[in-house]
Amino acid sequence: MSTQEKLLITPAEWEVMRVIWANGPMTSKEIQEVLEKETGWKTATTKTFIGRLKVKKALSAEKEGRQFIYSAGVFERESVKEEITSSFEKVCNRKIGTYLNDYIETTTLSQQDILLLLESLESKLDDAPVEVPCQCLEGQCNCQDCQ
Ligand SMILES: [Zn+2]
Repeated sequence: MSTQEKLLITPAEWEVMRVIWANGPMTSKEIQEVLEKETGWKTATTKTFIGRLKVKKALSAEKEGRQFIYSAGVFERESVKEEITSSFEKVCNRKIGTYLNDYIETTTLSQQDILLLLESLESKLDDAPVEVPCQCLEGQCNCQDCQ
């Protein structure tokens, strides 16, 4: 198991991280109060997720009086990037373009988002290979037949 896989945040843990990213350092009680209505989590449940996030170094804890104050140990943007990378590592490099396009087609993007994407794509076009090399294990994709 790579370090990256170990660090991946589960969907429930993401709920906790989003609260911390939005609000900055806070106690487990404050985190739970935000999530309680939506999730119905009890204090113990929230504390379990906080504990796991501490192990993953996604949260850090600092003791203040009798309670702990939790802060984000990872940036939201970096964490999202790791999630996306982890997803695309599961498929053949040659399919990434198609799957990214599938995602773009079904996602609402602002005009500014689209201009940013166009700019990135245009700057990549000149140096892009005609075909992306396959990195798959034999028997895990079909594209090795045509290599
Ligand atoms: Zn492949």
